[in-house]
Amino acid sequence: MKVDCLVVGAGFAGAVSAERLAASGRTVLVIDRRDHIGGNAYDRPDPHGILVHPYGPHIFHTNAERIFAYLSRFTDWRFYEHRVLAAVDGKLLPMPINRTTINGLYGWSLDEAGIRAHLDAVRVPIDTVRTSEDAVLASIGTDLCDRFFRGYTRKQWGLDLAELSASVAARIPTRTGDDDRYFTDRFQFMPAAGYTRLFEAMLSSPRITVRLSTDFSQVRDEIAWDHLIFTGPIDSFYGHRFGRLPYRSLRFEHQHLADRATFQPVGQVNYPNDHAFTRITEFKHLTGQQAAGTSIMREYPCADGEPFYPVPRPENEALYQRYKALAAEEARVSFVGRLAEYRYYNMDQVVGAALKTAADLGA
Ligand code: FAD
Repeated sequence: MKVDCLVVGAGFAGAVSAERLAASGRTVLVIDRRDHIGGNAYDRPDPHGILVHPYGPHIFHTNAERIFAYLSRFTDWRFYEHRVLAAVDGKLLPMPINRTTINGLYGWSLDEAGIRAHLDAVRVPIDTVRTSEDAVLASIGTDLCDRFFRGYTRKQWGLDLAELSASVAARIPTRTGDDDRYFTDRFQFMPAAGYTRLFEAMLSSPRITVRLSTDFSQVRDEIAWDHLIFTGPIDSFYGHRFGRLPYRSLRFEHQHLADRATFQPVGQVNYPNDHAFTRITEFKHLTGQQAAGTSIMREYPCADGEPFYPVPRPENEALYQRYKALAAEEARVSFVGRLAEYRYYNMDQVVGAALKTAADLGA
């Protein structure tokens, strides 16, 4: 078989690349080793008819109007602002930490200036912020760090805060006001009919063929292509010749509750200190679906399994750079996406990266 472009992976990186290349007149074959499109953003109804995200809750948010406009060609949207509570000391308190969190935790009623003064007083002065522990201590001090971050990080990464790059903790802000939205981006929406429908629309061109349950290794020698877009793990493309890039994985435990309409007040509740799981998602909050029962999912981080999160440590970045140097020599292969670029990308960033790659190829 001969195609203009072979795309490995049917997640956002692969689907956007395929859509753009097909729109520019190329024939495209998309393969994925899973039996469905959508990558980790895939959603499907569970056995009780509730739309769930089998690879973890996916909330779309972006500040980039261009990316929102591009995706809007393939879906209608439902406005949704994600809110997260943390179960700490028997209370449910907003995350990211804000005025309500601090007042609720300590039984205070400080105004914004009072919260600022408190944070100024408890902040640990750190000259050079190197690790996530430095970043958190320098921002909120020891007590809030221990109650909200230390245990969660240990569960999520299997590492102490001090062992992780500062960039991980830097993702989570601290607020002195009452804004309890998890994200503050301009555009916060969920695809109205779900992510899988969005992907179906993106891959609907007659120039695109999709082959599922197909690993790249099975077709590597069988299919001729002018250009390859690879969105799988970059170390696997090179047979792990310098060693494996470490990933953190997750085990998901689904539960349906037939006898109640809701389980928790918001879409996500974090458990930084109790239980082996990190968080519970209740999908009806995300999707707005109306149903008599409700479906929830607990997440248990683990070392083995699907590669979900690149582990942000300096030595892993150094290993990635060795693979990236090999990739830079490839004239006919582009590496795009979370696994191929070993980056903690959100969906909008992956879409942006794929649009750029396609544009570089004249699409
Ligand atoms: P993927 O979605 O992983 O797609 C890669 C595809 O390539 C997979 O389907 C895989 O099966 C396939 N593949 C890999 N190797 C091969 C091979 N050798 N042969 C054939 N196929 C192969 N982002 C947000 O913006 N908001 C969120 O709320 C959010 N929540 C998240 C929650 C979790 C638990 C996780 C893990 C991620 C979350 N993300 C979120 C990030 C989001 O999932 C990614 O940005 C996005 O899915 C990356 O798209 P991708 O195409 O790069 O990778």
